[in-house]
Amino acid sequence: MATLRLVGILGGTFNPIHFGHLRIAQELAESLNMDEVRFIPSANPPHKPAPTVSAQQRASMVQLAIANNPLFSCDMRELNRQGASYTIDTLISLREELGVETALCLIMGSDAFLHLDSWHRWQDLLNYCHIVLVQRPIIGTQKDLSKLSLSPVLKDFLAQHYTENCEDLSDKNAGFISMHPITPLAISATEIRKLIAQKQSPRYLLPNAVLDFIVKNTLYTQ
Ligand code: ATP
Repeated sequence: MATLRLVGILGGTFNPIHFGHLRIAQELAESLNMDEVRFIPSANPPHKPAPTVSAQQRASMVQLAIANNPLFSCDMRELNRQGASYTIDTLISLREELGVETALCLIMGSDAFLHLDSWHRWQDLLNYCHIVLVQRPIIGTQKDLSKLSLSPVLKDFLAQHYTENCEDLSDKNAGFISMHPITPLAISATEIRKLIAQKQSPRYLLPNAVLDFIVKNTLYTQ
């Protein structure tokens, strides 16, 4: 019955993009049979302090990282909007562009899902997309997410929409939450920025082309 196109959406600050992002996109694209994955850099992330690196530079790093992967593209729509980059607005505009025959899968690490109920119009998100969750490993001094429980309202939300059947994602164009195993990579942009500020190398945590861009533009040195 799977008739819909499946498009993965990976939104993020990408400050900078790293192998954690790239691997979840690749593994989910293959395991869920996605037709494409769009990386959508956030211009003005509502939940983080304003990044010191411009949205244009963060998007350039995404473009360098995904070059040569025909499944991946960098979608610039949040850079072309004013104001806070709300995911709900992005989903509405993607739905307008792609039509109802496309299922949108919003890919999210478990750390992001824990705070979903603080997102603008969060209860509307599932009218436009599915949410595809991946477990994010613990990094540095972060708290163990598995020991932090979901708020009762999110627990309810998860229970109402959860599916273990991958086919559901291409039978309906929105409305389900699913969870998928991925290779755990304990990489974060925060740690990469810290390494660079401490004059240590982040090599092998992110693509060489991205590292070359960082060095050339002296990003994250303080
Ligand atoms: P920062 O450390 O600056 O907060 P980040 O590494 O978390 O950045 P984001 O651009 O904020 O990167 O992440 C975008 C999305 O990718 C989020 O849903 C996040 O949970 C997910 N993500 C990032 N890194 C990983 C990882 N190593 N494993 C699984 N998911 C990840």
